This record gives sequence, structure tokens and C-alpha cells, in this order.
Amino acid sequence: MRQIDHFISGEAGSAGTGRTHKIWNPSTGEIQAEVSLGDAALLDRAIANAKKVQPEWAATNPQRRARVMFKFKQLLEDNMQELAELLASEHGKVVDDAKGDVQRGLEVIEYACGIPQAMKGEYSNSAGPGIDVYSMRQPLGIGAGITPFNFPAMIPMWMFGMAIAAGNAFILKPSERDPSVPVRLAELFLEAGAPEGLLQVVHGDKEMVDAILDHPDISAVSFVGSSDIAHYVYNRGVAAGKRVQAMGGAKNHGIVMPDADLDQVVNDLAGAAFGSAGERCMALPVVVPVGEDTAERLKAKLIPAINALRVGVSNDPEAHYGPVVTPEHKARVEQWIDTAEAEGGEIVIDGRGFSLQGHEKGFFVGPTLIDHVTPEMESYKEEIFGPVLQIVRAKDFEDALRLPSDHQYGNGVAIFTRNGHAAREFAHRVNAGMVGINVPIPVPVAYHSFGGWKRSGFGDADQYGMEGLKFWTKAKKVTQRWPDGGGDGSNAFLIPTMG
Ligand code: NAD
Repeated sequence: MRQIDHFISGEAGSAGTGRTHKIWNPSTGEIQAEVSLGDAALLDRAIANAKKVQPEWAATNPQRRARVMFKFKQLLEDNMQELAELLASEHGKVVDDAKGDVQRGLEVIEYACGIPQAMKGEYSNSAGPGIDVYSMRQPLGIGAGITPFNFPAMIPMWMFGMAIAAGNAFILKPSERDPSVPVRLAELFLEAGAPEGLLQVVHGDKEMVDAILDHPDISAVSFVGSSDIAHYVYNRGVAAGKRVQAMGGAKNHGIVMPDADLDQVVNDLAGAAFGSAGERCMALPVVVPVGEDTAERLKAKLIPAINALRVGVSNDPEAHYGPVVTPEHKARVEQWIDTAEAEGGEIVIDGRGFSLQGHEKGFFVGPTLIDHVTPEMESYKEEIFGPVLQIVRAKDFEDALRLPSDHQYGNGVAIFTRNGHAAREFAHRVNAGMVGINVPIPVPVAYHSFGGWKRSGFGDADQYGMEGLKFWTKAKKVTQRWPDGGGDGSNAFLIPTMG
């Protein structure tokens, strides 16, 4: 049995709780490895390493720090195929999609190559008589990231790319379901010239997460995962005096206006609802056609498109999507389809009980289309996180706008239309963090920032871009004067003003 160990400076082997977690190959349904689960003592050792190395790293000039990022980016490109295959074998997404997972993280590293520019402070000359004011951003010290299974390359890089470039040391606690790629990233980072102890990986479950949240030497925690855990992490981390950003679950809606190009919409929806077996926080699992005529026309086009999808093992180059991550997750997705049916949804295409010939033990769920879903249904309110598309019919634009705005989640949302006015109104008024206009998965590029609203995001800082930089640094504001010795005669007992 392949063992996946922690990546802690100076340590080989799997010291920790002695507990392990099994790693599936979702395509075959076999256990392929096990990962050691860590505890507070293991975290202490990692923190001790980080403390040794971080001050010198923070003092290294930003251009030199950026050079490590440049080299790391090169290594990611050189190892893209290997990383993608490893990722796909544990997650289940198809290899080309796994390359996208690595690539979108790489793009944050690319942004972090510009850290000398991003960290330049502000300066006001002569803010008062002989007084200048300037600001600088300084690293926090040791940051930690707790990441979900669904993007095991991209999300860790969202976090450690920005945190480390800014001068912090970083402890990554990846998902225990697909931990190999995060370890491989840490190995490549070392190869890129980072000092030992700067980026370490500790595996674990709730025990390790709690140890991170309570540790006095960790200044900031970035979390991405499901909403209940995000909320818990946020509360516990903040109570311990840390800076916390915690991204949660999602239920993204795609609004289809009567004037939309339906062929384009169907093509976009198929990818956005079923790609990566729907296990994306920016998937589009709810489509909202506006008007009965739009609904009927859309449904007629969706049915053949969905029936034509090819479900396959993760290294099938023709497959549109692969298995879901674990047998428990397959059972959960199928239960949600049962619930939707019991609640009165019309199961138009049923993916339950799907079996792939030759891979009968794999965790496959067939593509599923459910019509006549209403906002009162539990299967609408909650995240399914599987290859399931729900149709919620809206009578008009206002009705359609209300649905994502009133939903408990507010991650992404999209509108499909040819009408610029409707699109603009929608973008301004909808209560969600990321909006696509004829773009089904509006994940902002690396030089903007990523973050949802409501129960999709706790805390006030988004991931990566300038928001990410702000999260991983603190601003110091300096007010200086260099008197010439004569004194300026001001009354030092009164608060200085510019009045
Ligand atoms: P998850 O919440 O089960 O796990 C996320 C992390 O929390 C993992 O590292 C896990 O080890 C840890 N964890 C699990 N249970 C815990 C507990 N009881 N106490 C403390 N820590 C615990 O999420 P997942 O299933 O790995 O990922 C899928 C979820 O993540 C979906 O809800 C998806 O929408 C969400 N997600 C959100 C975003 C976003 O940016 N908003 C991005 C990707 C995924």
C-alpha cells in the first residue's frame, strides 16, 4: 500500500496520530494508498521549522522571492502531465480538466512573480508642514491553508502563492481525500529554491484543523470547503485572535433570458453543470429559464445534449467527466436525486444506478436533469455537488433575479442574454459575489480576486489578487518629520489637524 506522508522539513516517515485515511481510485473503486493523519504535536514541529526560516525569508528582497516563484512556475509547466495524472487518479476528474486545475493555480503563481510591484507602498509627500506619510505592507509571519478535495492543486496555490511571495511561511492542510498533489507541489517548491520549512504540508482531519485554529503562532488561516465547516473554522479562528477567510459551498444559478442564444447556452451549461462531475464550487447546477416558452425550448435542446455526454474513467481522453470522489459521495448525490423526486421534481434524465462497463465498481453518477424544481424544495436549497442540473422556471426577469439573490449561497451566478440593459441590471442588482454575463463559470483571473457572498464566504477578504495580498500582509503607516532644529511653534497638547 502506497503511503502518503506529511511534508515537514527534516522529517521523513509518517509520525502523527497513527491514524490513517484511505485514498480511493474513484475510477476503479479500489483503495490505492493511505495518508497519515497528523496531530497537534506534529503541527508544533512544523511551526518550529517555519519560525526558524520565516524572518530571513521576509527580509529577503521581494525580487529574490519572486525568482523562486518564476522557477516554481517553470517546474509546474515541466511537470504538468505528471501532476494532472496524479490529481485525476485520486480526484476522478478527467486528465485535461486536472491540467486546468494546475493551470489556474499556476496563474496565481504567475501573478505572485510580480510581488515587488504589488507590495509597493503608498507615499504622500508634505501631508503637513515638513511631514510625509507612507505605508508599507509587511508579512504576518506564519499562515495556514485548509483546502477542499475538489481543486487539490489550484486552491492550495491560491493561498500559498500569495502568502509566501509576501514573505510568510505557510502550513498547508490539504483534503485528506486527495493529498498527493499538494505534497508534490511542496516538493517542487523546494526544488524551485525555497528554503526548507517555508512551505510544509500536514495531513489530517478535524483534529489537525482544530490544532491549526488554536495554535498561537499561526496568524492567519485561509479555508475553502463546505459552508458549515467554513463557518465553524471562521468562528474558532477569529475567537483565537486570527485573521480568517473561509469560503463555503455554492448553488450557482444560470439565468436564461428569452433572447439568449440557446445553442450556446446548452453547450455552456453542459460543461458548467456536468464538468468535473459537478464537483466545482463554480459549477452551474441550477438553470432558470425566463418564461414558459424559453423553458420548453431550452429543455428540448438540453435533453439530447445531456444524453450525448460521455462518462468515463479519468484517463479516458474522450470522456466529458469522470467519477465522483468517494462511494459515500456517490450515495449522497443519489440520495439528493431521490429527495428531489419525492419533493415533486420531474426526473427527466436519471443518473442513479449508473454503471460503467468494465468499471462497475467506480463511483460514477450518470448525468441527471430535473425539471419543475421550486425554491421550497430541500434539493434546491442545498448543494448537491454532483452531475445534476435542476431547472427552476421563472415567470419574468424580476422573478429570475430574486432566485439567486434570496438563496442562502451567493458564490457565482450567470445570465445569458443578448440584451445589454438586462445584463447590466442583473450584474448590479444580484446578491452574489461573482457574476458571468454569457460566461457560465465566472472565476476571476489571477489579477482580480475570487470570493462569494452570504454562506459562500465568511470574512471580508477574497482569495488571490490584491485582496489576497492584503489578507496575507498587514499595513504599517508611518508619519515622519525631520525638523531642522528650530521647532515649528505648534501646540503639542492639541491633536494635530490639517484645519
Ligand atoms: P469539506 O468541508 O468536507 O472539507 C474541507 C476541509 O475541511 C478539508 O481539508 C477537511 O479535512 C476539513 N474538514 C472536514 N471536516 C471537518 C470538521 N468537522 N472540522 C474541521 N475541519 C474539517 O469540503 P470538501 O468536501 O472537501 O469540498 C467541497 C466543498 O467545498 C463544497 O461545499 C464546495 O462548494 C466547497 N468549495 C468552495 C469553494 C469556494 O471558493 N467557495 C471552492 C471549492 C470548493
